[in-house]
Amino acid sequence: MCEFCHKHGEGKKWYLQAKNYSDDLLSDLERRKYIVDFFAHPEGLTKQVGRLEKLNRAPAFVRGVLAPYISGRQKKVHFGQVLPIEDVAHIFDFVTEIIRLNCICRHVNLGTEQRYCYGISLVPQGGEFRKIIEEIDASYLTGPNTSGLETLTKEEALESFRQHEKEGLCHSVWTFMAPFTGGICNCDRSDCLAMRATVTHGVPLMFRAEYVAEVNPELCNGCRQCMRVCQFGAIGYSAANKKVVIDPRRCYGCGTCRASCTKDAITLHDRASVPVAANIW
Ligand code: SF4
Ligand code: SF4
Repeated sequence: MCEFCHKHGEGKKWYLQAKNYSDDLLSDLERRKYIVDFFAHPEGLTKQVGRLEKLNRAPAFVRGVLAPYISGRQKKVHFGQVLPIEDVAHIFDFVTEIIRLNCICRHVNLGTEQRYCYGISLVPQGGEFRKIIEEIDASYLTGPNTSGLETLTKEEALESFRQHEKEGLCHSVWTFMAPFTGGICNCDRSDCLAMRATVTHGVPLMFRAEYVAEVNPELCNGCRQCMRVCQFGAIGYSAANKKVVIDPRRCYGCGTCRASCTKDAITLHDRASVPVAANIW
């Protein structure tokens, strides 16, 4: 299990621990202010990206010192973990409200409203979390969807996540000052600033999933569809065998490849059961 499970999970995966979604945690004024600033000032993220680009050009020893520092700081405020759709479904089992939100990363990157993020809450009618988000001045939003927050049933939300998976997106769950957990997003390396920081710039802002994928060579026909959707470059193709192979040391365990495989050739295993990947987060 990852560092957050040990710290915040009390024997479960941290994001399956219901109390991490509770309104109690939102009585912390510092946390409320962080959430307001996060949603109301997307320009803060733009600055962070600029700093990461600079860091990428810095000498290796500077990156070696700064990357763990930035990562450690983010763990206290906004940090995520990749998770497969079955764990998204487990979260939807116990939360009481799901709202679809504008994705701040895509807003920063594309300048338009793109609803790929989902706010989740343990309290009916969204409780304090929903209130905080509703009160934020979101006048920077440009549309096309200006209908306010959308409330989804669990079935509707899960169906949307299946569609996102078909688009090749990877699910991730996020804290707003750990352990409060408030959102699940659907990411790709082009638009998700955290994924870019983690994979492209080597500054981890999200943990890998608690899983690792494996291909059954008996079922694989070598179509390579899975390679097209893997955001992490974890899948290789053997021209001689006409099969693909997943490198467990690179795999983030998102399951996006599995959703794209028409031969059901891909399975997720517990990361802990795969020795070469067990301690890679
Ligand atoms: S999508 Fe499935 S069948 Fe196609 S290469 Fe990948 S594992 Fe093999
Ligand atoms: S190989 Fe791993 S990282 Fe790549 S899509 Fe599949 S589960 Fe995700």
